[in-house]
Amino acid sequence: MDVILTTKCNLKCDGCCYLFNKYKDGEFLDADKIIANMNKIKPSLEKYRTISVIGGETFLYPDLVKICDYIKDLDIDQCAIFTNGTIYPNYIEELCKTMNNKFHIVIGGYGNETVKKKLCDIFTKYNISHVIRPDDDDWIEHGDFIDHKEPKIKFCDFRYLTLMKDRIYACGRFAQAVNLGLIDIKNMTQDEYIDINDKDILVKIDKMMEESYYKFTSTCKYCLRGTKRGINRTQGS
Ligand code: SF4
Ligand code: SF4
Repeated sequence: MDVILTTKCNLKCDGCCYLFNKYKDGEFLDADKIIANMNKIKPSLEKYRTISVIGGETFLYPDLVKICDYIKDLDIDQCAIFTNGTIYPNYIEELCKTMNNKFHIVIGGYGNETVKKKLCDIFTKYNISHVIRPDDDDWIEHGDFIDHKEPKIKFCDFRYLTLMKDRIYACGRFAQAVNLGLIDIKNMTQDEYIDINDKDILVKIDKMMEESYYKFTSTCKYCLRGTKRGINRTQGS
């Protein structure tokens, strides 16, 4: 499951999968609220074993240490933290001391060379698992949020349940589309999101997880993944 901390990103990559390029300023989401919401779905987080912490740009987020301090005590296998490799946060030492062997840092290969090296050096010093992603692998143009009317695939391999504010979305792109006001939540189908206070949330997460690797739902028509342009590669994560 992806956990969104912020909609701020210092890069504005064309075709950003999660539409973070469309925010003018973005915002930092409240850390206590994020932790409280993770706690509400803790049985699911521990059942499915992996969490990805993402931004916007994660290392812009001022309360990352607090979030990791909560995650480190979860009974999970791995927490991946994604960064675009351009920010060396002032709390990095504290962060390294907080993280345990569940954490794995994924650094965008298109980041700044000096920053990437400094990040690798400190993660190596603290024995934190990390990798620099090749700068052109895994990048697929997702395009602007417009109605392409041409879903070409029956399933999407880039569909990760996403916790953002008070909802779980079937895809992180749905979360940003709602947050940006590009689509009204009323126009999303019931298999595309769950309210965090839904009394059946754990059961519904199970169902969404079962479907997540093969469903291609109505809001997907606003995404280029699965179309011809969706295999073009440019800059990004
Ligand atoms: S692809 Fe990554 S670095 Fe680029 S705008 Fe999106 S979140 Fe930011
Ligand atoms: S095709 Fe649908 S599930 Fe896949 S990334 Fe695009 S919006 Fe998300």
